[in-house]
Amino acid sequence: MIENKVVVITGASSGIGEASARLLARQGAKVVLGARREDRLKAIAESIEAEGGSAAFVAMDVTRPTDNDAIIRRAEDRFGRVDVIFLNAGLMPTSPVSALKTDEWNAAIDINIKGVLNGVAASMPLFLEQKSGQVIAVSSVAGLKAYPGSAIYGGTKWFVRDFMEVLRMESAMEGSNIRTSTIYPAAINTELLGGISDPTAAAAMKNLYSQHAISPERVASVVSFAIDAPEDTNINEFTIGPTSQPW
Ligand code: NDP
Repeated sequence: MIENKVVVITGASSGIGEASARLLARQGAKVVLGARREDRLKAIAESIEAEGGSAAFVAMDVTRPTDNDAIIRRAEDRFGRVDVIFLNAGLMPTSPVSALKTDEWNAAIDINIKGVLNGVAASMPLFLEQKSGQVIAVSSVAGLKAYPGSAIYGGTKWFVRDFMEVLRMESAMEGSNIRTSTIYPAAINTELLGGISDPTAAAAMKNLYSQHAISPERVASVVSFAIDAPEDTNINEFTIGPTSQPW
């Protein structure tokens, strides 16, 4: 069931996070939006509320543990609980290893890996206290297969896969009633390519996306499906891509 669930979404200022927030709010969820661009969050939250939905927002950087604590607090203050945390914030600075873009490697690790860990650390105490909760994380098809140019990005998404699978197992073993879902999008039309600074990698990805990318609303519908699944059910290992995707 989605109606009245409180869903915290990181990376909600664009792309998959924004599309998921809008869809879930239309389906009756109370959404709490987090990202760094506060003006975007404010506009999205206002437009959700103008349509009759419930939305709160807080500017946050997932790399800071205190910001993750703050968005959970904001959700509790406004809506009284948290049912789902959708760990979606990420960046994809694709480049060959030989380009040695070490600052981008570190940023990807900080946001895509530590951001997920910070979100889990912030929400798990509440989930344990409530004896219920759901963690949804975004890996990627690059978290399932190796692709040239994606050594570091793919590595961060392989981490998400491993981490979420162990979290699923441990939650079952501990009887904590924490549901887990990991989703693996292929090429999705969002702002993600804007984070690629290597000109050759950027051109190649642009070409690939122009042929195969699908809309973030398609991913949002899978997020909604995972939340809507019966309360004793985990939806795991979903890849989402176009029928034309050959890789
Ligand atoms: P977007 O670039 O549109 O969205 C990324 C979101 O992450 C933005 O809202 C951005 O907001 C937020 N974000 C980035 N860094 C931080 C940070 N430090 N703290 C808080 N928020 C942050 O791309 P997508 O919607 O495509 O990306 C969403 C997720 O989907 C990512 O994890 C990505 O890796 C994954 N994915 C995307 C695919 C695609 O083809 N698009 C394919 C497979 C996976 P802000 O800048 O305001 O902070």
